[in-house]
Amino acid sequence: MSERSPEHLDVLIVGAGLSGIGAAWHLQDRCPGKSYAILEARGDLGGTWDLFRYPGIRSDSDMHTLGYRFKPWTRSKSITDGPSILEYVRETAREDGIEPKIRFNHHVIAASWSSEDSRWTVEVECGDDGERVTLTCDFLWTCSGYYRYDEGFTPRFEGEERFSGPVVHPQHWPEELDYDGKRIVVIGSGATAVTLVPAMAEKAAHVTMLQRSPTYVASLPAEDRIATTLRRYLPDRAAYAIVRWKNVLVQTLFFQLSRRRPELVKRFIRKGVERSLPPGYDIDKHFKPKYNPWDQRMCLVPDGDLFKAISRGEASVVTDTVASFTEQGIALESGEQLEADVIVTATGLNLLFLGGMKLEVDGEPVDIPGKMTYRGMMLSGVPNFAFTVGYTNASWTLKADLTSEFVCRLLRHMDGGGYSRVLPEADTSIAEAPLLDFTSGYVLRSLDQFPKQGSEEPWKLRQNYIFDIGTIRRGSLEDSALRFSRAAARTSPADRIAA
Ligand SMILES: Cc1cc2nc3c(=O)[nH]c(=O)nc-3n(C[C@H](O)[C@H](O)[C@H](O)COP(=O)(O)OP(=O)(O)OC[C@H]3O[C@@H](n4cnc5c(N)ncnc54)[C@H](O)[C@@H]3O)c2cc1C
Repeated sequence: MSERSPEHLDVLIVGAGLSGIGAAWHLQDRCPGKSYAILEARGDLGGTWDLFRYPGIRSDSDMHTLGYRFKPWTRSKSITDGPSILEYVRETAREDGIEPKIRFNHHVIAASWSSEDSRWTVEVECGDDGERVTLTCDFLWTCSGYYRYDEGFTPRFEGEERFSGPVVHPQHWPEELDYDGKRIVVIGSGATAVTLVPAMAEKAAHVTMLQRSPTYVASLPAEDRIATTLRRYLPDRAAYAIVRWKNVLVQTLFFQLSRRRPELVKRFIRKGVERSLPPGYDIDKHFKPKYNPWDQRMCLVPDGDLFKAISRGEASVVTDTVASFTEQGIALESGEQLEADVIVTATGLNLLFLGGMKLEVDGEPVDIPGKMTYRGMMLSGVPNFAFTVGYTNASWTLKADLTSEFVCRLLRHMDGGGYSRVLPEADTSIAEAPLLDFTSGYVLRSLDQFPKQGSEEPWKLRQNYIFDIGTIRRGSLEDSALRFSRAAARTSPADRIAA
């Protein structure tokens, strides 16, 4: 290597969260000859599970499907706390020798593809002083999550500056925040709000969940008894595989039923809420959404903890709209006042595709919203590039694992055929559709920055693990949408004729 040529790796992975560590595991396992590094913007691994530190932080899907396919989840709780998930990711990185491959404080700013050289040039900002480093790679794989790390979403509230107490966003939880015996208002009704409310209620004087409109909330046992029993009789791997499949089937069935027979599912959820709350509780007002189940992400609460806090009088739900913040709390549009010592704005995330990286192909900027996603993991017109984004209606890792398997299959196929380039190419006859069909505010707010899906295979996003096993794990790589080619400089004349 000459002094001025940048360091070159076969594969660069961007992001050392749950997905990036899983991607590295697959790469080491299936393509052991490949050189690679993980570029991570933060000073530690774990992504989401390291960033979020609010009270009660936990998964809202079970760890038998949020865990990797290759590493059994063996702890007793299936719906588990954030630190345990972080430890699971750390353990994977440690045990499998992935940790030394991570370059921390490496924030990828941009990447540009050159067809002439058949490689990516990746621009990285390092450390606090913003020193720039350039790397090159044959294949670029982003596992950068789906939201902005520097800033959560907070709408502007009238009179914010008047409130005399702390206003906290869950994405930036102040470690020193003391809420013992205080009155808390949590604004929001999503997964974060329903987690925070019972957790804070353990110490606070009272917690009020202030929501503009209700969400579907269902209770699930934190511990999976079948898993616990199976682990007693079977090796961890066998027990894990069985419980994983059980959960995949139950979740898929529930989702399909929600789409096909929404009234039936509504009644089922309603019955669960009725059983969990005191008689006479106004369920219509606080737990009856206007949309159908799974039109937005559903909230799961382990062992009904939210309902228990409400039943004990430690927490309550108010369905109303903020008129303004006041010195003592919040004035509502109904005219009511909510007194508070601390306000928590559990108002969501700012979605961000590819961790904000700018892409260029042969000097042309890639217009992300103008691109179509190939199987929800590659972009039309962007060579040797993949991204990992999980399911929205099931555990993230189910799709992340499949994406990793596919990328490794692709790399092996390219090596086997002597190909240096793979390019997804969308047929112009395929109609475009938004990438996600969720109606949640945070999705609708940012959908125009995301690529599209197509009306047909392999551009259509199925959000269905069982279907995706057939196409992503087992489907042929030589489909009409993927173009494989060999770089002239690296091939023999005979190969060139073949290409
Ligand atoms: C509070 C919360 C709870 C959740 N609970 C669940 C759940 O129960 N079940 C579920 O399925 N999903 C859940 N999710 C979704 C969750 O994000 C995924 O499950 C999973 O953790 C995503 O992992 P990831 O590695 O793809 O992304 P992340 O965890 O977001 O990690 C991405 C990593 O990439 C790094 N990065 C980003 N951009 C760049 C860049 N330009 N350069 C270098 N590095 C970069 C980040 O620093 C980060 O470390 C939850 C999300 C949140 C916010």
